[in-house]
Amino acid sequence: MSEKFDQIKAREEQLLCRSYSRYPIAIHSGNMSHLTDVDGKEYVDLLAGIAVAAVGHCNPEICAVLAEQSHKLWHVSNLFYQEEQLELASLLLQTTHHDKVFFCNSGAEANEACIKLARRYMQEVRHADRYEIITLSNCFHGRTLATLAATGRENLSRGFGPLPAGFKQVPCQDLAALKASITEHTAAVMLEVVQGEAGVIPLDHAYLKGVEALCREQGILLICDEVQAGFCRTGTFWAFQQHDLKPDIMSTAKALANGLAMGCMLATNEVAKGFEPGSHATTFGGGALVSKVASKTIEIMLRDNLAARAAEVGTRLKARLDTIQKAYPKLIKEVRGQGLMLGIEFYKDGPKVWEELLQRGFICSLSHNANLRLLPALNIPESDLEAFCTTLEAICAQHN
Ligand SMILES: *Cc1c(COP(=O)(O)O)cnc(C)c1O
Repeated sequence: MSEKFDQIKAREEQLLCRSYSRYPIAIHSGNMSHLTDVDGKEYVDLLAGIAVAAVGHCNPEICAVLAEQSHKLWHVSNLFYQEEQLELASLLLQTTHHDKVFFCNSGAEANEACIKLARRYMQEVRHADRYEIITLSNCFHGRTLATLAATGRENLSRGFGPLPAGFKQVPCQDLAALKASITEHTAAVMLEVVQGEAGVIPLDHAYLKGVEALCREQGILLICDEVQAGFCRTGTFWAFQQHDLKPDIMSTAKALANGLAMGCMLATNEVAKGFEPGSHATTFGGGALVSKVASKTIEIMLRDNLAARAAEVGTRLKARLDTIQKAYPKLIKEVRGQGLMLGIEFYKDGPKVWEELLQRGFICSLSHNANLRLLPALNIPESDLEAFCTTLEAICAQHN
C-alpha cells in the first residue's frame, strides 16, 4: 500500500465511527465502469457501488441533468407539490402493475414503509388483528431496527436488542414450513426473489408461485424486496416479473438514482389505502434534484433496453463462468444468478481469489468469505467482462 493510502486510512481511524471493514483501496474518481484510486491505479468495477451505479459512474447524461436541475431546485420538503416527483412516479409505474408510489431515501427505509403499510392496511382498512411479517432464511432487508428484525441474523443484531416484535423467519424454499408458520396474526410475507447479500441465491420458480398462491389463499400480502435485484439487473425490469408474480407491495432503492440516495415503495391501489395524510412521512424523500436524476436513470434503462442487455450479456457471462467452474471444480463450487447479478461460490479460496482480483485491477464483492458477487453496471462493455474472466482463469490456474 502507498504512503498516501496509509495516511488516509490512519485519518479515517481518527475521524469515523468504526462500523465498516473497508477494502484496501481509496477511490479517487469514477468513469462509467472504471474506477481510479488515489495512487492513479485503474480498476474495472464489477460491483458498481453495490448494484447502485447501474448506468455507470459519472454517466455524462446524468451529470448534465444533475447540473441543470441543481440551478433550478433541490429540496423544498413534502409540504409542497413537485412535478419532478410526478414525472418519476409515472415512469416507475410504467414498469410494474403497481398503482401508487412513496419516496424515501434508502432500501431499509423502503422496507420500513412496506412493513408499515402492510400492518396499517390490515389494521385500519381490513380491521384485522394482523401485524406479523414472515421472512425467509438468508434474507437481507436492511439495518434499521425493524428491518434487522426482519433480516433475523443474530450476527447483525447482537447488542441492539430489543428489536421490534412481530417478525418471524422460516427456512427458504420450504413451502410447508411457510404454510405452518402463518397464523391469524400474519400480515405479509416479505422476500427477495434473488437473495443478494446471501451470495446471489435465486429462489425457485415453483416455490415463488407457491408462496404467492398461499398468500392469496390466506388473504395476506406479498411484499417483494427489489432493492438489489430490481432495475433491470436480473434481465427483466423487476426480478419478480420473471416469475409472473404480482406482489402487493415492493421496495426499491439501490440503482434508483444511480448513486444519489433514494428509495421508494410501490403498492397497489387497494393496499395503498393503508396510508392517509400524516400516516408516514420523510423530510428528504422525493426531493426535486434526486427525483430528476432518478427519472433520467430510468429513462436510460428503458431507452437502451438494459433489461434485455442484462439478460443477454449475463447469459454469456454465466456460460463463460460455468466453463471456468468446470475447469476448476475443486476450487469453485457453483456459479449462480440471473442477468448481471451473479455469484461465484468458492470452497475455501474465495478471499484469496478476491484479493488477487483486486491486485490485478478487478473489483467485485466478497460475501460470507466464500462468494464473489458480480453486480456490474448494466452497460459495462463486454470486453471488461472478458478481461475479468481471463484474469479469474489465470488466478484459478495458480491456485489449483
Ligand atoms: C441493500 C439492501 C437493503 C438495504 O438498503 P440500504 O439502502 O442499505 O438501507 C435492503 N434489501 C436488500 C435486498 C438490499 O440488497
